[in-house]
Amino acid sequence: MTAAPLEALLAGLASGEVEVVDLTHTLCPDFPVIVLPPEFGQCQPFRIEEVSRYDHRGPAWYWNNISMSEHAGTHFDAPAHWISGRHLPANTVDQLPVRDVVGPAVVLDFSTECAGDPDFVLTRAHVEAWEAAHGPIPPRAWVLFRTDWSKKVGTPDYVGLREDGAHSPGPDAGAIEYLVRERGIIGFGTETVGTDAGQGGHFSPPYPAHFILHGAGRYGLQCLANLDRLPPRGAVVIAAPLKIRQGSGSPLRVLALVPASPQVPS
Ligand code: MN
Repeated sequence: MTAAPLEALLAGLASGEVEVVDLTHTLCPDFPVIVLPPEFGQCQPFRIEEVSRYDHRGPAWYWNNISMSEHAGTHFDAPAHWISGRHLPANTVDQLPVRDVVGPAVVLDFSTECAGDPDFVLTRAHVEAWEAAHGPIPPRAWVLFRTDWSKKVGTPDYVGLREDGAHSPGPDAGAIEYLVRERGIIGFGTETVGTDAGQGGHFSPPYPAHFILHGAGRYGLQCLANLDRLPPRGAVVIAAPLKIRQGSGSPLRVLALVPASPQVPS
């Protein structure tokens, strides 16, 4: 056993050669949550209520009570979130192996394609084209799908709700099957409110990212931000959900350790 790898990391952080990038949106009551058809139970947005703020309710302290859906804001999906992962061992956020929440990040940038097509579907062919340009996706990676959808937060286009449901990009079953079965990814992360496309309920199987990822014991991340600050490969993601007993997911702070861009000497 040697401390050298951790010392190298700390030296990189101290020198600025390793940057810490926040991939998290601010939790606030107006952050949009997924909207399901009205016959289903709904995801509650974040709520916050002041307990005291250096006043008669608590003269020297400030604090709030909060409540929210497990799936509000930037959040983590555990295998138990979907029926396909219902009977897997260690399938909830309190039980999952913590080793799983740190891993290499690859960023599949399809923001240009998505800019012209809110229903852009990521396919196996897209992933293979990315690998031809950037090399194979490493085992146990977090695959982050860059769409620049995070920049639409605060506009109706973020959820993209129309009469026929939501419109936002996402993967098809072939892409997720490839990532899980042939690349052994640990999870799939998106900028949108779900790991599936807005119209993913009409895919086969319905909601393929949820169905395949969670059925294989893999994880989802949603409502990510700042993916445009990550390189295609080389970053490390840390995504540890809250330890909610039997929890299906949780809001969390997602961080990326990123090699700093080399400084051009002047
Ligand atoms: Mn979710």
